[in-house]
Amino acid sequence: MIISVKKNHLIQVMSAILFVSLSIGYLQFAAHPMLEKWEQEKILVRRVNTSLPLVALTFDDGPVAETTTAVLDALQRNQAHGTFFLLGQRAENHPELVKRMTREGHEVGNHSYSHANYNKMKTAEQMEDVFRTNQIIERLSGQPIRLFRPPGGYLSVAMVEKCRAADLTIAYWTYKQDPKDWRNGTRAASIARSILDHLEPGQIIILHDGAPNANETAKALDILIPELNKRGYSCVTLSDLMAMENK
Ligand SMILES: [Zn+2]
Repeated sequence: MIISVKKNHLIQVMSAILFVSLSIGYLQFAAHPMLEKWEQEKILVRRVNTSLPLVALTFDDGPVAETTTAVLDALQRNQAHGTFFLLGQRAENHPELVKRMTREGHEVGNHSYSHANYNKMKTAEQMEDVFRTNQIIERLSGQPIRLFRPPGGYLSVAMVEKCRAADLTIAYWTYKQDPKDWRNGTRAASIARSILDHLEPGQIIILHDGAPNANETAKALDILIPELNKRGYSCVTLSDLMAMENK
């Protein structure tokens, strides 16, 4: 009896801690005071205002040999296009995968050189990291790089203003289209279900081809894309989706 009361108490305390930490995480994500203003100014995008049945699948943290190949194969099988937010360092290690992305009609964007902690860097260092990565990815892909997704979703006024001046759009994602596919043990079916349960036109879906769990991400695409197509949706690159604003 005493033990079970203690256990219950422990569970309550743990739940409270979890709730508080999740809330803090959410606030940190959602509450940058400039977010909406930046969205209105089109310097930051979280979703595209369109009634057309289109979404953008985006893939972060690659390229990684096995899992990025699996994601590219799945997109090819399902005749879908995506946007890859690359790490410069990994792109240098896998130029063939970056070239394949371009050849197969996908878009590439910048996700920093090595996923460094931008919280611990000065703006000048951050921008050096951004521009260095742009150069690498432009050279390997042959695409002009116009999209930057900051590592860890980092935002600061100084960094965003530098990006604006450099004609780079901050490519955020739709909050409810973050199925946390990178978490080890997240299965393909639950990744696909989470996306389908929250589906609306114009959403930017965040996935990870470069995380250890990304074989599940690739498998999820074989469930997700046929179902999206059944519902009349197409998967387009983020730039193509942005071009459909107000359509
Ligand atoms: Zn990342």
